[in-house]
Amino acid sequence: MKSQDPIENLKTHLRRRKTSGAPPARLSPEARSSMESWKKRKHAKPDPTPAAKSTTSPVTPSVPSRSTRTPAAPAAPASPQTQAQPQWSLQLPEGDKPSRFAWLRDTALACSRCSHLASFRKQVVFGVGNPDASLMFVGEAPGADEDEQGIPFVGRAGQLLTKMIEAMGLKRDDVYIANVLKCRPDMPPNTPGNRKPTLSEMDTCAPYLHAQIELIRPRVMVALGATAVQGLLRDTSPMGKLRGQWREYRGIPLMLTYHPSYLLHNSSITEKRKVWEDLMKAMEKLELPISDKQKGYFLQ
Ligand code: SF4
Repeated sequence: MKSQDPIENLKTHLRRRKTSGAPPARLSPEARSSMESWKKRKHAKPDPTPAAKSTTSPVTPSVPSRSTRTPAAPAAPASPQTQAQPQWSLQLPEGDKPSRFAWLRDTALACSRCSHLASFRKQVVFGVGNPDASLMFVGEAPGADEDEQGIPFVGRAGQLLTKMIEAMGLKRDDVYIANVLKCRPDMPPNTPGNRKPTLSEMDTCAPYLHAQIELIRPRVMVALGATAVQGLLRDTSPMGKLRGQWREYRGIPLMLTYHPSYLLHNSSITEKRKVWEDLMKAMEKLELPISDKQKGYFLQ
């Protein structure tokens, strides 16, 4: 059987040539360089992490469900290749949940892995809410308002998200809210507004989100907007097609819906209803009561 290792395949090929009496093969400098760099990558050690000094337990690739909770109905699984590809590993220290969460937060707040973002940000926007939440919202990245306050979803879109949470019969403090990227994407000097994070930036920051998920262990997650969906699932389909779908992220059912800012620009009752139906699906999965009044929100 052919090996997956190109160096081994090359060695086998050269041995066969020699045995068959063929003249010696010569490798071009480019081919030699390419093989050398492949060999180096193969034997390269992973990047050290901020936690490298501690005796720690690794963040596991999937999140076990809480035994005291009713298991959620199965969602469509996503293969690891279609999910965020963290570029380094983060190891949580041993200890109880509050101390591990505090360590994670402190580590993120001191992070400068993305030097261009670390020098631009005012502060790292780690996340906010209940560390024991059953429901976790995930957005894309902090904007100027969030960067200023250090809290995700505090601008106009954030205020709308708060209203959406309250319409579900919950308080903002009941859920957990985080972004895929913890630092505001940098902008050219004197340029207003915000930009979308790149996939590479989101991958670099993914270990923090994964550790948050591992510690919180929500029963349901809701991805807010196309960029968050792309960062989490690598799915670039239009949100009009994606919204309302259940996916799975690190073993947790993930509902895809529009970002609240979409509703600020498309505030028709039809679009509001679509988002509300997505949130009702999350409520059903969480076995939250849904009153007749709630069922009727945003109907014509
Ligand atoms: S975006 Fe994430 S990984 Fe990059 S510097 Fe900020 S906290 Fe660190």
